[in-house]
Amino acid sequence: MAKGYEKNQERLMTLSRYAKDLVRRSGAKCELCEATNVKLSIFEVPPVEVEPHIDDCIFICETCKEQLENPKRVDSNHWRCLNNTLWSDVPVVQVIALRMLKKLADAGEFWAEELLGMAYPSDEISNWVAMAD
Ligand SMILES: [Zn+2]
Repeated sequence: MAKGYEKNQERLMTLSRYAKDLVRRSGAKCELCEATNVKLSIFEVPPVEVEPHIDDCIFICETCKEQLENPKRVDSNHWRCLNNTLWSDVPVVQVIALRMLKKLADAGEFWAEELLGMAYPSDEISNWVAMAD
């Protein structure tokens, strides 16, 4: 039983080492909604590899995290922020933005569909987006 627990602890330790670099990369703002002066935490974007990697992580606020983890709580208005973050220089941020926009578009959000129509992600990003859980 201890094995899974230890593995998880190990993973959390590794992830916590990324915090400094993620603060720098994000400018201490939520990488999705750009909220400042809020608690930011590391979120691993699926599919999660055996070994954690900073390029698979985003640094986000509680609101974004809660809605990513609980699709039923998604408040489409909150995600208007993707208007900006869709154009992020950070590939994994683009990936999560595109996945969320697809979900919103499927749910009938017209603005999300429009925004998706303007995005021309690279093949690499598109493949990554398609690897969603
Ligand atoms: Zn946020």
